[in-house]
Amino acid sequence: MFKKILIANRGEIALRIQRACRELGVKAVMVYSEADRDAKYVRLAEEAVCIGPAASNLSYLNMPAIISAAEVTDAEAIHPGYGFLSENADFAERVEKSGFQFIGPAPESIRLMGDKVSAKQAMIRAGVPCVPGSEGELPDDAVQIRRIAKTVGYPVIIKAAGGGGGRGMRVVHTEAALVNAVAMTKAEAGAAFGNPAVYMEKFLQNPRHIEIQVLADTFKNAVYLGERDCSMQRRHQKILEEAPAPGINRKLIERIGERCVTACKKMGYRGAGTFEFLYEAGEFYFIEMNTRVQVEHPVTEMITGIDIVKTQIMVAAGEKLPFTQRQITIKGHAIECRINAEDPYKFTPSPGRITTWHAPGGPGVRVDSHIYTNYFVPPNYDSMIGKLIVHGDTREQALARMRTALLETAVEGINTNIPLHRELMVDAKFMAGGTNIHYLEHWLEQHKR
Ligand code: ADP
Repeated sequence: MFKKILIANRGEIALRIQRACRELGVKAVMVYSEADRDAKYVRLAEEAVCIGPAASNLSYLNMPAIISAAEVTDAEAIHPGYGFLSENADFAERVEKSGFQFIGPAPESIRLMGDKVSAKQAMIRAGVPCVPGSEGELPDDAVQIRRIAKTVGYPVIIKAAGGGGGRGMRVVHTEAALVNAVAMTKAEAGAAFGNPAVYMEKFLQNPRHIEIQVLADTFKNAVYLGERDCSMQRRHQKILEEAPAPGINRKLIERIGERCVTACKKMGYRGAGTFEFLYEAGEFYFIEMNTRVQVEHPVTEMITGIDIVKTQIMVAAGEKLPFTQRQITIKGHAIECRINAEDPYKFTPSPGRITTWHAPGGPGVRVDSHIYTNYFVPPNYDSMIGKLIVHGDTREQALARMRTALLETAVEGINTNIPLHRELMVDAKFMAGGTNIHYLEHWLEQHKR
């Protein structure tokens, strides 16, 4: 096992990884920007290094600063968390070239999955079902683009090969709008991701977003830890997640889980990963793979009892996966609400000083958050300030526990989306389970204020 790890991230995930390190008896070095000087995990750290000013490109995205922080503190490995540099293959490569272990997959795996076109091609080779669409990158020729769309069938969605975070996508309903939409998506993709390549998929009308969590070691062992339902989205951004996915046949999940495991073995994948699928009319369609720990990993931890972050660190240190597929059992139901510093209905960010913070508690309640009373939420980063996770024997019990937990939670001084979560937890359709990826947007439309 490593003696010391550097955690190249901030916020709740920095604290989450720090907790895993403590359990493993590994020293954790925290890095922070000037805006995060007062963060809880920095105060709790045995060692912490300031890596630059508030702006992420000068701190959390600053590769030389992070690598020198690892050098001066004698860390052996770097955990990238999620976001920032976590899916940057060049960073992973620089980390390894500088003599540190990157806690994640090999740079080649990140690169392969980071380009959604090459990722889809790899999945097709591994027998993972994908959304029907263009065979690869779209050509420039208008006639050819129209021909591909005709074969795929309208509506189609144009997606950036290098896209992420719900950006770089455009739905097209008619042939008249097609060529212009492709050109616009290409231009945006070039500017936003430095890669103008786009591809086409059939736009599924009413799918659910279901994803499979995997873990793999360097001995070609791989397992899947069941699925998560992340269909409650606004602008392609998840706001709450649950596991297992209500109403999906277990045999179907097993079959798709096994395909993901096979794909991991074929790729020589290492560490934690997520295969994201759209699920419609009893079929799974792969959309992308995330090669890092995800925000919603706790719901899987709650139903399997497996610590995903600890396991990531263990396999990065060269240990074998401590369990086989047969030893993994799913118990009960878990729900996670992302707590964001924002207006609950208008979604405008609400940074500032938290004057009161009361965390909920009780059986089956978990809070992953770095905030505290008097904490200042900096305006420079993502608006998520924490996650509230509950576990119950049944989905009904998990819902009841989430309602109680949301009632107990108090955040004052800034706006949060807690009122929205409270309403969703008593919404009849959500309570029935199985809502699709458009449900939340429609709900918000109907509940405009
Ligand atoms: P990102 O990497 O930006 O998150 P994804 O490929 O994972 O992009 O897609 C994000 C979301 O966009 C999905 O969860 C889904 O809501 C929507 N989406 C993507 N592809 C399709 C498709 N072919 N049909 C319908 N919706 C889609």
